[in-house]
Amino acid sequence: MPNHEQIVDVLIIGTGVSGLIAAREMQSAGRSVLLLDKGRGLGGRLASRRIGAATFDHGAQFITTRDARFEEILKQGAEAGMMTEWCQGFSTAADGHTRWRGQPAMTAVAKYLAQGLETQMEKQVVALRRAGDRYSVETSTGEFYSAGAVLLTPPVPQSLALLATGEIALDPAMRTRLEGIQYERCLAVMAVLKGPSSIPPPGGLVPARGPVSWIADNQLKGISLEPAVTIHANHEFSLAHWDEDRMESGRRLLDAAQPCLGAEVLSYQVHGWRYSKPIQVDTHPCALLQTSPPLVMAGDAFAGPRVEGAALSGMAAAEALLANLPH
Ligand SMILES: Cc1cc2nc3c(=O)[nH]c(=O)nc-3n(C[C@H](O)[C@H](O)[C@H](O)COP(=O)(O)OP(=O)(O)OC[C@H]3O[C@@H](n4cnc5c(N)ncnc54)[C@H](O)[C@@H]3O)c2cc1C
Repeated sequence: MPNHEQIVDVLIIGTGVSGLIAAREMQSAGRSVLLLDKGRGLGGRLASRRIGAATFDHGAQFITTRDARFEEILKQGAEAGMMTEWCQGFSTAADGHTRWRGQPAMTAVAKYLAQGLETQMEKQVVALRRAGDRYSVETSTGEFYSAGAVLLTPPVPQSLALLATGEIALDPAMRTRLEGIQYERCLAVMAVLKGPSSIPPPGGLVPARGPVSWIADNQLKGISLEPAVTIHANHEFSLAHWDEDRMESGRRLLDAAQPCLGAEVLSYQVHGWRYSKPIQVDTHPCALLQTSPPLVMAGDAFAGPRVEGAALSGMAAAEALLANLPH
């Protein structure tokens, strides 16, 4: 056994929505839970960034829900002042269905969900091995953890790569199912404007034709002090330009979005989401890979390609882990 190994009941890899929701459920059931994430900030694809006084949500733009349990969590987050209603639809397509956002920005949703949980950031898991009746988890910086159960929430191809490091056997049918899950890519441009954009309130647009799949005015959204737009490229453009210089792809997207900008671009940054949204969604809300000791995979690829799907998958994963952990 490695020196200084940290011992926990349940180790969760990833502090995105699915990991955080699962952690809350498991901790309320009396289990000791630790979350590890390779990122600097909580939230995974719930991501916000600042450029000077401009603030951008550059991953998930808003949250919708149809599930009463998740709606209750959002309402509690709103009562705590960390989530709020953005709008009930965009321009002529307003449908009366609430679009939630984080307050002051999207990462606040993750910060709210993480309250009372033990998280360790900048811990990239590089190996997962079976060690007797437990799992041993190793990070890139040489820390070791011993866990009675593990929940994997990275995008499926990344979780499969981790399983391969410890030669953890998968049922062949399960392997085929999981290997079939692919994701869209998304290049996201964050641009600071000299003046207000020409996007109408409440600040979100889906252009009729590519390569821009979404454009949002973060000032109208209520999260930015300065005019700031987020532009998402569609999968086809993102894939075709993935290996190109990012500022060059960003410039092409700014040109394509020109009719919506309405003001000079002062500066911009580009972020690439390799795993943006799953193209295929699995038929189960999570994948129970091993029962003893329990090993589960969850995330938006299991219960729907959106924040709510990730949350529901996290709930299902907690249930599967609790059912298979010794009492
Ligand atoms: C550009 C974009 C726009 C979107 N727009 C919307 C929207 O408007 N509405 C909506 O509902 N959904 C939207 N989505 C989808 C939504 O963001 C996701 O469905 C949801 O956030 C996924 O949560 P998750 O927990 O499954 O995964 P993630 O949020 O990806 O969390 C996985 C976590 O695992 C961590 N991780 C990965 N590998 C390791 C490792 N080896 N070691 C440690 N940690 C690791 C990652 O750092 C990450 O934090 C959007 C996504 C993108 C990218």
